[in-house]
Amino acid sequence: MQSHKMNEANPGVKCQVSSCYYYMSGDHCSADRIEVLPRHATTSSETDCGTFTKK
Ligand code: SF4
Repeated sequence: MQSHKMNEANPGVKCQVSSCYYYMSGDHCSADRIEVLPRHATTSSETDCGTFTKK
């Protein structure tokens, strides 16, 4: 899934991953969309942001 970096925070996402290219200070995400996986996770700790890109 293609994501684009916006100039503002995505209001629907709070994220603490400060090493991500899309991270914005204040625990915001500037990606216009994110993908979360894997499909068959059974707990929240098993899920990950697939849009993460290292800075
Ligand atoms: S793309 Fe994912 S990991 Fe990166 S800032 Fe947004 S929510 Fe966080």
